[in-house]
Amino acid sequence: MGEALIDSYGRTVRDLRISVTDRCNFRCQYCMPEEGMVWLPRTDILTFEEIERVARVCVERFGVDSIRLTGGEPTVRAHLPTLVAKLAALRVGGGADGVGDGREDRREDGRGVDLAMTTNGASLRLMARDLYDAGLRRLNISCDSLQRERFLAITKRDALESVLDGIDAAVAAGFDPVKLNCVLMRGINDDEIVDFARFGRERGVRVRFIEFMPLDASDQWSANRVVPGAEIVAAIDAVYPLVAVEGRGSQPAQRYRYRDGEGEIGVIASVSAPFCGACDRIRLTAEGQLRNCLFAVDETDLRPLLRGGGGDEDLAAAIVANVGRKWAGHSINKVTFIRPARSMSQIGG
Ligand code: SAM
Ligand code: SF4
Repeated sequence: MGEALIDSYGRTVRDLRISVTDRCNFRCQYCMPEEGMVWLPRTDILTFEEIERVARVCVERFGVDSIRLTGGEPTVRAHLPTLVAKLAALRVGGGADGVGDGREDRREDGRGVDLAMTTNGASLRLMARDLYDAGLRRLNISCDSLQRERFLAITKRDALESVLDGIDAAVAAGFDPVKLNCVLMRGINDDEIVDFARFGRERGVRVRFIEFMPLDASDQWSANRVVPGAEIVAAIDAVYPLVAVEGRGSQPAQRYRYRDGEGEIGVIASVSAPFCGACDRIRLTAEGQLRNCLFAVDETDLRPLLRGGGGDEDLAAAIVANVGRKWAGHSINKVTFIRPARSMSQIGG
């Protein structure tokens, strides 16, 4: 058993979410305001070498074996395949033995990380092949309406066709699985639940329905805008019967298989059924802040170490200290909940 990142509640960190930019070519209403986002100065954003350094410490020293690139929109960062290739070359070391955590199959020596990305998909028609060739293997593509006008109203971009082309391009490039992320909002797109399920079955993609979380920049969130996971499952089950998949482990999505064998869906019920007890994630923002929770109000700035001559030992110590402060879970449903100062695109969802 090697060195592992274990928080004070006994959870082992295995998954690193890296935001490569805070910028985006969409303005999804649940994430960014249409006007007035203030972007980070480019010099504040970590270089690929700096990102690789943090990732190397996490992967090679602490046994983190899963990395997801996100943002903002990761595909707007120039030369993204170069970063993917750097991360794909890392080899997992350290780590806990993880007996019984459902990941035994990924635990042979010298293996690479499980490399994934979340994207709005609009540029995948052009980039999917290059990303795959660089070593990216899994993609989550966000899409919140299958209706052109509504897609435009939600994202402020008339880009449904590009996103659908992007999904096809991802499947054609060999990404497996391709998942489709759909954030449901009451009164906005909750009448499309079954349409999305049908779309997923027909296209061979796994739709993951995500509850709307209080991380929008425009403060539109309210509890009655959230469509609870149980309601989503019931709506689909009535048309295409479902069966829950056992053995969720640390995955945020509860998976359900179609009884007729035509694929599966996932439901991320962060608000109505939080899964913090099994959380194995930490996050690195585009400007080098380490966060131990999506909803964290406290961050560790790694840039002074990265740019001020700190060694890998210093980085490792800062990461250990941050993980040591990880809380038991968020408190969205309690009066004590404090909204983080950053919105989703500034954290890296
Ligand atoms: N731009 C990429 C995209 O949209 O896929 C990656 C970044 S985005 C912040 C990551 C994921 O967070 C997306 O699936 C998006 O739908 C989701 N998201 C953003 N704001 C959200 C919110 N307030 N509640 C729930 N999910 C949200
Ligand atoms: Fe951009 Fe993704 Fe946020 Fe939409 S959800 S505005 S695509 S970062």
